[in-house]
Amino acid sequence: MRALWFEEVGKLVWREVEDLVVSSPLEAVVRPVASTTCDLDRGIVHGLVPLGADFPIGHECVAEVLDVGAAVHRVAVGDLVVVPWHISCGVCPPCRNALPTACTTVPGLQGYGASIAGSWGGLFSEQARVPYADAMLTRLPTGVEPAAAAAVSDNLTDAYVCVTRGLSRHPGARVLVVSSLPSLGLFAVDQALAAGARQVDYVDRSGRRRGVATTLGADVGVDIDPGTQHLSYPVVIGATSDPALLREAVLCLTPGGHLSNAGMFFADTPLPLWEMYQRDVTISVGAVSVTPHVPAVLELLRQRRLRPELVISVHDAEHAPEVLLARDMKPVLVRPQLIGPAPA
Ligand SMILES: [Zn+2]
Ligand SMILES: [Zn+2]
Repeated sequence: MRALWFEEVGKLVWREVEDLVVSSPLEAVVRPVASTTCDLDRGIVHGLVPLGADFPIGHECVAEVLDVGAAVHRVAVGDLVVVPWHISCGVCPPCRNALPTACTTVPGLQGYGASIAGSWGGLFSEQARVPYADAMLTRLPTGVEPAAAAAVSDNLTDAYVCVTRGLSRHPGARVLVVSSLPSLGLFAVDQALAAGARQVDYVDRSGRRRGVATTLGADVGVDIDPGTQHLSYPVVIGATSDPALLREAVLCLTPGGHLSNAGMFFADTPLPLWEMYQRDVTISVGAVSVTPHVPAVLELLRQRRLRPELVISVHDAEHAPEVLLARDMKPVLVRPQLIGPAPA
């Protein structure tokens, strides 16, 4: 089979590697049929994040199950499934407490397609190994297209979790989304409106993304306006890895407000703690444990409450090396199923 290999900054190639076979009773081997870029992948392929090179890339996909071990019961050969970005066993204490990214059976931030800890292959490849199939995989509901659900593995569910953290404390609130990343901010707009936000304001320097945010239903701006936006939002979603933008986003919180940031910071980053102290605000950051939330996001897709089709673009997987280097928001790379029906 072929794996999509990130060789060095600006260079992706298809590499011929060994076919995968099921090697444990708990395992599945799957074929990604709709794979997409996490916003982090943009930083990886352009050398903007300290994660190195020379590994198979990709950690968001819907896949077809090719084979399962004898102890796998929740999915079967031929099923279409969401593969989460992280590896987790499902039975250790953190997994049972809905924190599978802290799984102690595979310690360290273990996931597909990046070199943070361990090597589990990449989800743009033609095959992938799922070591704990029953714990990790969720079947795609009937009526949900694989391409529409490709980002459920990570970014679309990240946005769901960030929005839920804020709006569960402040139901129906006016929400601010501050974005400098390709897709997370747009998914947050969509999730916030689906979750009943009274109004969603969206700030981004990208005119193209502001256009999509407007279509999704947000009021848009280029920069935060301190005069009208500081101290104005009970719920702020950060989709940024820019310390200055994160600081501005924090200052937009009302007293008691909550900011959830989905972007990654690889170094110690200053925060306006005195301003935060005076307002008694909270912020949350962190790699999202997506697996427990995948069914809820799939149900929103099944009910057509989300519109990922406004954010994604669909391409033939064959063109992945070129497509991933182009600066598109959320390219989804598709290939035919082997067992199930070919897409129309
Ligand atoms: Zn990711
Ligand atoms: Zn575990």
